[in-house]
Formats: sequence, C-alpha cells, structure tokens
Amino acid sequence: MRTMLAQSSMDLPRLTDVTCTRLGLCVVVAVLGVGFSNCRQEPGKPNPGAQVFGKIPATLSRNWDKAWQTKSLADRIRPIDATGIAYVAKWNELDGFEEKPEPAILDSARRSALIKELETLPPPVRSYIERNVAAIFTTRALGGSAMAGLAYDDSGRPEFGFLIIDIDMFEKPANEWITAKELTLFAPDAKQTFSIQIEDSAANTSTAGMRFILLHELGHIASQLNHTMPPFTETNLSVDSDFAKLSWTSAEMTRFDSQFPERSRIKFYRRPPPFQMNSASAIYDHLGKTDIATLYSCVDPHEDFAETFVLYVHSVLMGKHYIVRLHDSAGEHVLAKDRILLSALAQKRKLVAEIFR
Ligand SMILES: [Zn+2]
Repeated sequence: MRTMLAQSSMDLPRLTDVTCTRLGLCVVVAVLGVGFSNCRQEPGKPNPGAQVFGKIPATLSRNWDKAWQTKSLADRIRPIDATGIAYVAKWNELDGFEEKPEPAILDSARRSALIKELETLPPPVRSYIERNVAAIFTTRALGGSAMAGLAYDDSGRPEFGFLIIDIDMFEKPANEWITAKELTLFAPDAKQTFSIQIEDSAANTSTAGMRFILLHELGHIASQLNHTMPPFTETNLSVDSDFAKLSWTSAEMTRFDSQFPERSRIKFYRRPPPFQMNSASAIYDHLGKTDIATLYSCVDPHEDFAETFVLYVHSVLMGKHYIVRLHDSAGEHVLAKDRILLSALAQKRKLVAEIFR
C-alpha cells in the first residue's frame, strides 16, 4: 500500500503500492512469473506483510493511545511519530528502499484545505474514517506517495488503521499528479502523450490529489477490517476472497491475461518504463475487455481492490470522473472514461458498497 510517485528509479517488484506503488503495505507483489498454467494450485509468493502486521509496535493496537477515537479528523493529522517512522523503516528495509522518513508539518493553508477535503467527504466515508483511522501521519522521504497501516489486537484481529502521506509528493494539482504517475509506464514520445483527469479545473488542487490517494490507502485498510480481501498476515499471497476471485486466478495472474498480454508487465515507476507510448491505445483497448478499473488495478489483487474502492467513492458517491485521454497530432481522444461505472464492474461495486452499510 504505498503509493509512489515521482521518485526515481524504483523498481518495485516488491510489494507494492503505488498509489501505493511500493507496496509497502500494499503488500502485493508484483513480480510475475511467466506463465504457469492450469492444473495444480501453486502456493502464492511469500507475503512480506506477514513479517510486519501484528508484529511490530505500530501494528499492535495496545501500543496506541485509545484517545484517538475521541479526536476530530483535524487533530488526527499530525507529523509522523517514532513508532510510525519505525513502521515505514521496516517496509523500506523489506523493499530495499534507502529513504529515511522524517516528520513533516503541512503549512496552514494546505492543512486547512486537506481538513476541508476530509470533512466534506460523503457522510458514510467520513464516518468510516472517524471510526477506523487512528492517525493521518505527515512525512517526507517516505519512499512513496502514501502508505496505510493496520493495528491488530492481541488475538491477531485487525482493529483499526492509520494513514501516512508524503507531503512533498503533492506539490502538483491532482490531475497532473495522477497523470505523472501513469506516465511512468510509458517512454516519453514527442508525437503523443496522454493525460488523466480526475477533477474539473476549478477543483484541480494538490489537496484533491491527497484526498484521492488517502482514499486509495483507506481501501487497503477497509479490505482488512471488513475482510473483503485476503489478510495481510497470510504467509503466502492468495486470492481467497470473493472480490479477488472475480478477476484473479492467483496473486499474479488474471483471467484476462491471454487476451491482455501486457497486463503482467504493468509495473509503475520502473526505469526504463515497460512500454512505448504508442502502445497506450492497445493497452487501454485490452483493459476495456476486462472488469478491471484502471491500469494501476492491474498490478495485483490488493491494488485492484484499493483502486476500485477509491473510484467507487470518487465516481459513485462523489460524482467525479476518471477520464484518460490520448493527445497526438490529430488532437485528442478518450481512451477510457469512468470504467468503475460499467456493468462489468457491478459486482465489484457491490462488494465495496457493502463496506459502507
Ligand atoms: Zn495501494
């Protein structure tokens, strides 16, 4: 569950998250294997999260001051503390990242704007955060854009979550931020490029991007608290959940891979990028034949869920768009628009909707 952006050359075949891009928490692994096929159920790859969740101090609820439950959302936004830093450091160690996270203070204007973003979320979403997110830590040098974490009780049950955001990753407005993330998949091309729009121009602020990424990370938390996805504590990565089984035959393969050969090569933040820009149309065409919402969803089952979750809130509950446009000498045309609303994704929407009931 990390979401990265902008860093340099990480190659993230670890767990990842891109939005998480590194998965930090996102525990997902992206490396894939080349085809193995039917027959025997192979055990999934070892899950790095099994070394973290319910094991280190930030992931144990007994180490948290229970007073968080009485704090306002505004008071939960605070510079990351030593326990949070140790959590990130553990993921950076597992992921092979060299970043050393440090506490960061949001300037008052952006802090106020972020508080407003959270307080004006649809009531079921705001309520879910109030009940289930103990802190929103601000940091820099995270090693990604954002991360999520879970705290477990003494019996190993996930009890609540926490969010971490790298404030330096959000200097750009939301549309430019998410476009830059997606462009890490493609080598630059003087003849064409593309863009993603998640906000109308009047609402295209950096804190709108923060809200989007925090909702993606919230999706990872909800996937555990509501048991919608396999547990982050499992020893080997599985697809043992109703949601994951819709698209995934293993933690690394989807049921669309034979018709979507690029899917297994979708890895963000690689240097060099995995694709040429002129393949974007074909990739989006292939994505269009799946029940997967975005290219980031293609990374692994946990990212698929987190993307579906954020887009459910973004488009179904908030009425906002997610539009991908190709720009070339002929002008621009839409490669994808609001896939979350397609009938092919109805079952995925239903599973996310159940979280807010
Ligand atoms: Zn993620």
